[in-house]
Amino acid sequence: MSTFQAPKGTYDLIPPRSAVFLAVRDTIATQVRNAGYGYVETPGFEDVNLFARGVGESTDIVTKEMYTLTTKGGDQLALRPEGTASVLRAALQANLHKQGNLPVKLWYSGSYYRYERAQAGRYRHFSQVGAEAIGAEDPALDAELIILADQAYRALGLRQYRILLNSLGDKECRPVYREALQTFLRGLDLDEETLRRAEINPLRVLDDKRADVQKQLVDAPLLRDYLCDACKAYHEQVRELITAAGVVFEDDPKLVRGLDYYTRTTFEFVHDGLGSQSAVGGGGRYDGLSEMIGGPALPSVGWALGVDRTVLALEAEGVELDLPAATSVFAVALGEEARRILFGKVTELRRAGIAADFSFGGKGLKGSMKDANRSGARLALVAGERDLAEGVVQLKDMESGEQRAVALDGVLDAVRELLG
Ligand code: AMP
Repeated sequence: MSTFQAPKGTYDLIPPRSAVFLAVRDTIATQVRNAGYGYVETPGFEDVNLFARGVGESTDIVTKEMYTLTTKGGDQLALRPEGTASVLRAALQANLHKQGNLPVKLWYSGSYYRYERAQAGRYRHFSQVGAEAIGAEDPALDAELIILADQAYRALGLRQYRILLNSLGDKECRPVYREALQTFLRGLDLDEETLRRAEINPLRVLDDKRADVQKQLVDAPLLRDYLCDACKAYHEQVRELITAAGVVFEDDPKLVRGLDYYTRTTFEFVHDGLGSQSAVGGGGRYDGLSEMIGGPALPSVGWALGVDRTVLALEAEGVELDLPAATSVFAVALGEEARRILFGKVTELRRAGIAADFSFGGKGLKGSMKDANRSGARLALVAGERDLAEGVVQLKDMESGEQRAVALDGVLDAVRELLG
C-alpha cells in the first residue's frame, strides 16, 4: 500500500467494476444520442458566481457543499457541483441559441464535486450523465427526457425504480403558493435553522427528511392546488405524453429539489434498493435560469443521472450486465523466438480490430495460461520452438479446450473464423 489514500468521500474506479461504470455511461449516452442530443464538454471549474446565481445562494449546494478556490491571479472559482449551469453558460457563450432551430439539445458526462457528509451512495466526487434541451417550452420535450431516462434504466436492466413527478409552477403561481406555505410554516414548532430556511426558501422545507418535521407537514398546502391554468394544462400534457409512452410514474405533490432554478415539471428517479440515498437521477424544467445568469429568456428542461448510484442500483438488484470480454485472443509465447513472432501476431490482430493481449513478463507455460484464463479471452494463441520449426502456432478454444495447429500466415483468418 502507498502512503496515500483516495481523499475522504472519494473512491477509485478499478477493473472489473470500472467496466460497469463505462457501460452505464454508454447506455445512457446511447439513448440521448439516438434522440438528437449533441455532446458537450465544459471545464471542471467555473466562476463561483455562475453557481451562486444559477443554483441558488440559499441552497445547500452553494452554501455548504461547493469546493471553492482563489487562483494565484485572484479569480474566484468553484469545482462544478452540477452540470446544468455550466452547459447553459457554454451554450450562451457559443451563441448556440442563435445559430439554428431551438431547442438546442446537448448531453454531457463527467465528474462533479460536492463537499457532502460522505456515506454509502453519497460521495464528494461523483459522476453524472446529463441531458439538456435549451430554448423551447414544449411539454413533449419534458416528456421526451423522462422517457429517455426511463429507457436508459430499462436498457440497463433496472426494474425496482420509481419515477416521482411534480410541477413547481411558474413565476405567476409559485409566489402565491410560497406565501401560503410560509404562513403555514411559521405556525409550526421548528428549530431555528429550519425557520430561517422557511423565510429564504420555504419549498425546501418540504424536502426535510426528519420524521418530526415531516409529521408537522402533513397538512401543508400543496403547490398543485395553487397552479395557474397555464401550468396545470402544461403539466397535464406532460402526464398524458409519458402515460401514452407506457412510462409508469407517481404524482408526488411534495417533490421539490435541492436547486433553486426549477420551474414547472420536476421529477426524480428513486431506487428502492438503495436506502437513504435513493435518488438515482432527477431533473426538470428551468425556464428562468438563462436570465438568472445574464442570458435571454430561454425556457429549458433537463436531467442528470448519477452513474455511481445507478451502479449501486444494478448491484442491489443483482443485475449482471452483458459486458463484452476485454480480450478475445491471448498469446502465450514460450521462448525468445516465439515472443518475437507472437508479439507481431498480437499487433496484427489488433490492427485488424480484434482485441488481443500478450503474456508479458517472460513467464513459463503455466503462469502464462493462468494469465490467458484470467483475461477471459475466447482463444489462446500458443507457440514454442517446436511449433515455430513447423511454421505453425497452436490455436486453443478456451471454452471447449479444443486445439489445432494453424499456419503462421493463416492466424488472422483462423481467428476471425472462430470468433465468428
Ligand atoms: P442532483 O444534481 O442533486 O439532482 O443530482 C442528480 C443525481 O446525481 C442524483 O440523483 C444522484 O444520483 C447523483 N448525485 C448527486 N449528488 C451525489 C453525491 N454526492 N454522490 C453520489 N451521487 C450523487
